[in-house]
Amino acid sequence: MIFDSHSHYDDEAFDEDRDELLSSMASKGVGDIVCAAASWDSLKKIKNLCEKYPFLHPTYGIHPENVDELTPERRPVLEEMIKTLSPVAIGEIGLDYYYDTSTKEAQKEIFIYQLELAKKYDLPVIVHSREATMDTLNIIKEHTPQKKGVIHCFSSSLEIAKEYVKMGFYIGVGGVITFKNSKTLKEVTKGIPLSSILIETDCPYLAPVPFRGKRNDSSYLTYVAEEIASLKEITSEEVIKETERNARTLFNL
Ligand SMILES: [Zn+2]
Repeated sequence: MIFDSHSHYDDEAFDEDRDELLSSMASKGVGDIVCAAASWDSLKKIKNLCEKYPFLHPTYGIHPENVDELTPERRPVLEEMIKTLSPVAIGEIGLDYYYDTSTKEAQKEIFIYQLELAKKYDLPVIVHSREATMDTLNIIKEHTPQKKGVIHCFSSSLEIAKEYVKMGFYIGVGGVITFKNSKTLKEVTKGIPLSSILIETDCPYLAPVPFRGKRNDSSYLTYVAEEIASLKEITSEEVIKETERNARTLFNL
C-alpha cells in the first residue's frame, strides 16, 4: 500500500469533501498517511482528524513560517500534546528563509527547541528547509534526535542529500519529481539508495504532473512512484513497497 509520509488534510482545501476523499483512500491503494501540523490552529485540527481515521497519524510541531505563534506560554501546551497524544514525529519544523515572516534568529531558536523536544520524547522529526540548506544541516548536526527524521520536500543538492543519508535521515520526494525542471531532485533520487527515500504529497500542495497546479491528494502518489521507478529502473510496485517499509521504520508503525 502507498504510504504518504507528509500531508495536510486539515487544510481548508479539503473542507468540502474531506470525509468522502479520506474514505476512498483504501480503495485507491493508499494505506497509511502522516498528517503534519504546521500552525498553532492546526495542532487541534490534526488531533481531531487523526482520532477519527485510524490510518491517519499525527505529528505535532510549528512550521518555521509560524514560529511567532509559539509564544513562551504555549510551549508547555505543545509539549503536553507531544507527551500525551502519541504523535509519530515532531513536525513540521525547520527553517524557511524564502518568506521573511519572522527573523532567522527566531526560526533557529524554535527549530532547536523542537529538535530538543524530539530528543526528550524519543521521536523522529519532519524537517522543512527552504533556502536555508547549510543552517538546517548545521543545526541538525548539533542537535540530532536519536530517532533521526526526514528532510521533507527535499530541494538541496545530491551532496547534501548524501550527508543526511550518512547521518541516518530519510529524503522526502513528492510531486516535484514529476516536473520537467526538477533536474536536481532527479539527480538526488538516482544518487541515493531507495532505502533512504520516503514518498510524500504535502497535499493540498505540489500535485504531480498531470495534475500540476491542482489540489493534490495521496492517491496521486502513484505518479511519484512511477517517476522514481523509471529513474531507478525498477517497478513502481517495488518503490511503493520499499518506501512503505522505510516509513514504517521511521515512524515506528
Ligand atoms: Zn508540509
